[in-house]
Amino acid sequence: MHYSGESGDKPGILWMNAAFLIVTPLLAITLAPLYIANYGIHWAEPTAFVVLWFLTGMGITAGYHRMFSHRAWWAPKPVRYAMLILGAATWQNSVIAWSASHRYHHQHTDTEDDPYNIQKGFLWAHMLWVMVEGKRHDDFDSAPDLKKDPLCQWQHDNYMLISTAFNVLIPLGLGLMTGRVWGMLLWAGLIRVVVLHHLTFFINSLAHMWGSRPWAADESARDNGVLAVLTLGEGYHNFHHTFPGDYRNGYRWYQFDPTKWFIWTLSKLGLAEDLRRSAIDHRLRRRWKRMREEYAAQMDEWSESMRQRVESAEERLEEALETMKARRSEWSRKAEKVQEQAREDLRAARIEAEEQAIEAFERWREIVEEQGELEPARV
Ligand SMILES: [Zn+2]
Ligand SMILES: [Zn+2]
Repeated sequence: MHYSGESGDKPGILWMNAAFLIVTPLLAITLAPLYIANYGIHWAEPTAFVVLWFLTGMGITAGYHRMFSHRAWWAPKPVRYAMLILGAATWQNSVIAWSASHRYHHQHTDTEDDPYNIQKGFLWAHMLWVMVEGKRHDDFDSAPDLKKDPLCQWQHDNYMLISTAFNVLIPLGLGLMTGRVWGMLLWAGLIRVVVLHHLTFFINSLAHMWGSRPWAADESARDNGVLAVLTLGEGYHNFHHTFPGDYRNGYRWYQFDPTKWFIWTLSKLGLAEDLRRSAIDHRLRRRWKRMREEYAAQMDEWSESMRQRVESAEERLEEALETMKARRSEWSRKAEKVQEQAREDLRAARIEAEEQAIEAFERWREIVEEQGELEPARV
């Protein structure tokens, strides 16, 4: 698919994109039942579908999204090549075009300048924005770093070739091994591309409509565990919009985020570097602010003594967060330059400050929660 620029007042239809996004699902839902009814299913076909879904999906979530759009991690050249080839194989445009739109989406969420603005409805955010002329930003000005990156530019220039070659050659090769070329072209090619399209599109549509907002309520992005399962971990979208530079979207160890586990595994193998995490004090501040917003309506009804308890808990929390920030900056200023023992001391001080801040936050939370439980879905 390629995008053309804005022209005139009347929005035109981008025929190539529209045809692709309409014809491929129609072909998939007609050809798949026909083929299966006549020839059955070879075990290798759904297996290839799942494996290639995972790998090309990683090209988008770990590659296009978390690495190239947000620089939340980085990798040696061969891994970047692999990410660019796998990403191209999903037919979601070149990394430069994808990331440029995505960065505008983050910068201008819910406004006219957001290419997939959810305020224009589910269908617009889901796929119409690809098919109809709108705010296009074809200069890719939000991705100057990627335009300068020779690897990304190579992928941009050869995008059609790479995506076509992958989607024909890989299923063809697998099909020759099973002796069922059409079966593989269907499962590992067509069905995978269509399924991955719509699961990716859900992040721009459903993940801006359905779920909770524990981190920020001033924009539409939501956290949704069901969507996380369907999208290789991208469903924690409220967190992601709040901390886009974090290589994780489900930041807690138990939150379902295969993309995070994939990147972490690569790093253990020496194939990924510079994995970035949001700072704990930033997260605590966010949650604090967000929960305070939720309680704002009730606060007027609190007794004077309750108000005082909350206030002093907040003072302690503020202090703990400041201490934590100081310990962290001390660590990053001095850790490299000092002897081992001094470095251990700095680390211990930093960790202790973290623990105290978390404790102060929990204490504050306990006090306000005595006044009544919050709807868990809302925070
Ligand atoms: Zn979003
Ligand atoms: Zn993002």
